[in-house]
Amino acid sequence: MAVVQQRTQYSGDIASTLLAYYDRHARDLPWRAPPGMPPPDPYRVWLSEIMLQQTTVAAVIAYFEKFIARWPDFAALASADDADVMAAWAGLGYYSRARNLIKCVRVVVTEYGGELPETSVELAKLPGIGPYTAAAIAAIAFGERVAVVDANVERVTARLFAIETPLPAAKPEIRVAVDAITPADRPGDFAQAMMDLGASLCSVRNPQCLICPLQLHCAAQKAGMAETLPRKAAKKSKPDRAGTAFWIEHNEHVWLTCRPDHGMLGGMRSLPDDGWNARADGDSQPPFAADWVSVAGEVVHVFTHFRLTLRLAATAAPVDESRLPPGEWWPLKSLDSAGLPTLFSKAAKLAIRARSKNLEE
Ligand code: SF4
Repeated sequence: MAVVQQRTQYSGDIASTLLAYYDRHARDLPWRAPPGMPPPDPYRVWLSEIMLQQTTVAAVIAYFEKFIARWPDFAALASADDADVMAAWAGLGYYSRARNLIKCVRVVVTEYGGELPETSVELAKLPGIGPYTAAAIAAIAFGERVAVVDANVERVTARLFAIETPLPAAKPEIRVAVDAITPADRPGDFAQAMMDLGASLCSVRNPQCLICPLQLHCAAQKAGMAETLPRKAAKKSKPDRAGTAFWIEHNEHVWLTCRPDHGMLGGMRSLPDDGWNARADGDSQPPFAADWVSVAGEVVHVFTHFRLTLRLAATAAPVDESRLPPGEWWPLKSLDSAGLPTLFSKAAKLAIRARSKNLEE
């Protein structure tokens, strides 16, 4: 921590230099207020921060705008149907966020009178809001002086202070450093300025130190080691899992199930499958005995903790529909509106492609 302590004597310089840069170069994003202006609507900050968890800004913008147009405030979202929210979230990934979004908005409406609590400590008690998200919302929406540390901020800070301890062990040291340079005035803008710097000039590869506003403050730049930081502990490789999804068709409709609330892709509509999960392959057993045909091709999907190879088998509906797993018939022509998560959306495309090919032959 000695380097951090030594460097924090310049903390005011870092904040004022970076804020001046932010005033000229802030990214224009739909959930933000312009630099130096009063904070944006807390609902917009909360919604964007939940969507941005482990997801890029570019991927979030269209979803954010769709949600805001449909559910413009806490009250509107709290009274939405769960299935509609889950379907609107489809494709954004990490679906537990959508389930927690629904839980959280209902707690805000029923227990907090429709307004977010204003401190990071209180915010962290809400569903789906961890320490990072609580700090980001508190700083950006309510002006709390709190250290906001996402992956971009981690990288910028490890470089500013030449912190060579590998991540994740370096996290406490980085947090102390971020806390030391966070100003009491405009902490939300400062947090967003650090995020912007990490997303632009201070990129993972090829940091643009020569045009960086913080170059005179940056220990890694001076030591010529910017690109080597932050160091990372060796990653374990992801295990491979295999599973099968089942395409059951009848009269231009496909059978969709709803996944259990707990577990992978919980609460989402999907094709029936063979029970694969993060710890085990599926058992390859179809939901009922029939003349199942393997569909050519497979879908490879990378989850946080494993890589799944999903195969597909198809058949016609059984005469006795009581043999189907719980679910519903969904028209093929409006399959896009079912809100299938990306994995099953790709599997459905495989089936439809194979089907079209068969019709042509
Ligand atoms: Fe990042 Fe280089 Fe700026 Fe340091 S000088 S903060 S390494 S871009």
